[in-house]
Amino acid sequence: MIHFIGAGPGDAELITVKGMRLLGACDVVIYAGSLVNPEILKYAKKDAKIYDSSCLNLEEIIEIMRKAHNRGQDVARLHTGDPSIYGAIREQMEKLNELGIPYEVCPGVSSLTAAAAVLKKELTVPGVSQTVIVTRMGGRTPVPDRESLKSLAEPKATMAIFLSADKIKKVVEELADSYNPDTPAAVVYKATWPEQKVVVGTLKDISKKAKEAGIDKTAIILVGDFLEGKYEYSRLYHTAFSHGFRAAGNSCGKPGCREGMP
Ligand code: SAH
Repeated sequence: MIHFIGAGPGDAELITVKGMRLLGACDVVIYAGSLVNPEILKYAKKDAKIYDSSCLNLEEIIEIMRKAHNRGQDVARLHTGDPSIYGAIREQMEKLNELGIPYEVCPGVSSLTAAAAVLKKELTVPGVSQTVIVTRMGGRTPVPDRESLKSLAEPKATMAIFLSADKIKKVVEELADSYNPDTPAAVVYKATWPEQKVVVGTLKDISKKAKEAGIDKTAIILVGDFLEGKYEYSRLYHTAFSHGFRAAGNSCGKPGCREGMP
């Protein structure tokens, strides 16, 4: 079995319990060495064979998986953050389909949610934005025209821009037609790593601030009014609002529900 595992954003404690357990049970580990914190390898079996995929191409990665599988060994394939976001796992899974090798995916904490945690922000605040756009600037991997930052900017939703810290000036230019120049923006570099850096500002100055901080890679750019300013309380905990688990007013009526309340 091949286990694609989200290794989390950096902090070795931010792999899931399941991911850690699977990693500890595999004889072969292939980790994305360019971004996965090598400290996570401490959870691997002592005698596991470990490969860094940053020096491998797709065929070589699949070959390692195939050989291990033929020997009856399980493989942990560690991806940074969550494998479903810019993880390049689809082609690996399709190759495994062709070879009839079984695999599973164990999710991870994306650098997006890690960045929100570092900033202590809610990405979806009522009355401001209920939508998160996860995107990137076109680079060596192009982005379809209809998904240009300019067009995605129109709804002024919460915007999380990956893989674009080196192009932050251009990012800001593309957003300028829709977002007000005073819109809050933040750049989180290496969220949850010891060398983490956080830069906050507005669309007007974020590019300059990020440059001054020397950030040009491994960073998430977050833009939107969710970062600062007015919002509405969620109905979820609102007294006058009832839902499946709680009646309007106070108690849901279940015994013990308000036990220990002051
Ligand atoms: N699957 C990953 C994303 C991989 S693409 C995830 O879910 O997080 C690589 C990009 O992710 C980087 O260019 C950067 O934009 C972002 N990234 C990865 N780790 C990061 C971290 N610890 N802090 C901030 N951004 C990070």
